[in-house]
Amino acid sequence: MIRYALSCDHDHGFEAWFASSSDYDDQAARGLVECPFCGSTGVRKQVMAPAVAGTKKAAPAPDMAKMQAMMMQAARQVRDHVEQNFDYVGDAFAREARDIHEGRSEKREIYGEATPADIKKLKDDGVSCAALPSLPPDPKKAN
Ligand SMILES: [Zn+2]
Repeated sequence: MIRYALSCDHDHGFEAWFASSSDYDDQAARGLVECPFCGSTGVRKQVMAPAVAGTKKAAPAPDMAKMQAMMMQAARQVRDHVEQNFDYVGDAFAREARDIHEGRSEKREIYGEATPADIKKLKDDGVSCAALPSLPPDPKKAN
């Protein structure tokens, strides 16, 4: 059940219970939700207050270390995918990306180094490219 704080077009505030948000949408669309004060069906939601039977503890604060680890893992997966599937073109990235975009070079996925100015120029010219997430050195790859 969801409790919605509603108000009508005469600014009467009231509350009503619905099975779900779609239940509210459905009833409101059919004009079944009316203001108990004036009978207007011009009602709108104020603030949604999800109500749950019994009391529940507030959600715990997000575990920052865990979130960071997950983000790091996701970043590593992106990099791994790129490193395994894309052609590394080093400093020639900006030129190569442009050549591919303009059909002068074989169409393929590439990655490499580029300056922020290079990236801006590429984007201005409609060449799509994205920065890879940066990572701390992978201890497995050292040496
Ligand atoms: Zn009203």
